[in-house]
Amino acid sequence: MVNGIIERYRDRLPFAPGDPVVSLGEGNTPLVLAPRLSERAGVEVWLKLEGANPTGSFKDRGMTTAVSAAVREGATAVVCASTGNTAASAAAYAARAGLRCAVVVPEGNIAMGKLAQALVHGARVIALKANFDAALTLVRELVERQPISLVNSVNDFRLQGQKTAAFEVVEALAGELDAVCLPVGNAGNITAYWLGFTESGRRPRMLGFQAEGAAPLVRGAPVEHPTTIASAIRIGNPARWEEAMDAMRSSGGTVAAVSDGQILEAYRFLAGAEGIFCEPASAAGVAGLLAHGAQDARRVVCVLTGHGLKDPEIAVGNAAGAISCEPELSALERAVLQ
Ligand SMILES: *Cc1c(COP(=O)(O)O)cnc(C)c1O
Repeated sequence: MVNGIIERYRDRLPFAPGDPVVSLGEGNTPLVLAPRLSERAGVEVWLKLEGANPTGSFKDRGMTTAVSAAVREGATAVVCASTGNTAASAAAYAARAGLRCAVVVPEGNIAMGKLAQALVHGARVIALKANFDAALTLVRELVERQPISLVNSVNDFRLQGQKTAAFEVVEALAGELDAVCLPVGNAGNITAYWLGFTESGRRPRMLGFQAEGAAPLVRGAPVEHPTTIASAIRIGNPARWEEAMDAMRSSGGTVAAVSDGQILEAYRFLAGAEGIFCEPASAAGVAGLLAHGAQDARRVVCVLTGHGLKDPEIAVGNAAGAISCEPELSALERAVLQ
């Protein structure tokens, strides 16, 4: 049996033996060397495949801890605002725990795979006529009035769970790494990685990347109407703003922006040249590495935060279509060899 992150790292997490654990066996994700990307970037690049978590994104690391803590506190329901992956993960872990779950997503702006997950796990899916930032503000007010547990990354248990990805990277590379590239949306994950690295006594440069149309940390001011094809980082006013800036500053890192064109180019490169299918937001870290470099780093880890199947519409919409073929050998031969 493969244990989840609470069992594996209990001595470094706020859970005592005997506490309830709601787990789907998350964590322990692959860290793979990327030879073609390394060649292009001029540094040794490793990819942390967080899409290999049970619901297909790193959010599961924070959800096992947030939902387990909610059960320990006696909660009967959880809620979150989400661009999609938090909703998918909350819905799955709530189903596992037997809790009610409501997810608030921006109407018409959630990737198909993520919507499917939230629905199939039985969450109440609320399509808010507003963007993520407005959704988060409203659910924060809601939990002031109702006995419902908030499982967004403003919940510290989320960061505690997510920091375990840094532990795994340190273990896999024996602590030898110089920089980490991450996409930044609500800025919880980069904050959690830095927490995990500092607890491990390591200080790699934290390089955060935002989409050009949703880059409040780069601009130094909230973005009222964030836009990007990378829906998981379409966020204009990150909740973990100060902590994320502190992580980048104290590690000697930076935050920079990448265009949607650069994100899609990196996305296609990873799929076509490395055999790794991530979602568009996840490719922002790689796009950032290719566009901005990694300063003096020799070994870099790029975190691929979510699986490509989350957003099939972007994948199909940006690829050559299937080739139609008559059921005859000669036609098939032509179609295959063309
Ligand atoms: C949530 C998410 C992000 C952004 O993480 P933050 O903690 O919000 O900065 C990036 N990529 C994917 C796939 C995500 O689901």
